[in-house]
Amino acid sequence: TSPENLICAIGPSICKNCYEVSEDVAERFMAAYTEAETAQIVFSKGNGKYLLDLHKANYYNLVDSGVKPENIDVTNICTCCNSEWLFSHRASKGLRGNLAAVIMLPEL
Ligand SMILES: [Zn+2]
Repeated sequence: TSPENLICAIGPSICKNCYEVSEDVAERFMAAYTEAETAQIVFSKGNGKYLLDLHKANYYNLVDSGVKPENIDVTNICTCCNSEWLFSHRASKGLRGNLAAVIMLPEL
């Protein structure tokens, strides 16, 4: 299909306040996105630690691939902040788990 015809949803994932990474991970994100995008994705905490906004990174992955911004819905639900009802690798300190989503196209 053509990206401009897609309607996308970005589901729950860890939020930027919960997702701390080391400098080597942050540098890979800084190299992968434009400077303007990086300013909204990577946040330095000092001491070589960074916070990443994966919701925003995935939003730009879609936009940079040709998806219209108005066709992207972002839940902005954090799995770590809501680990009592969503699996979070960080919140569970490395335990394994899964998330699933169901999508349905209504008959027109
Ligand atoms: Zn969070």
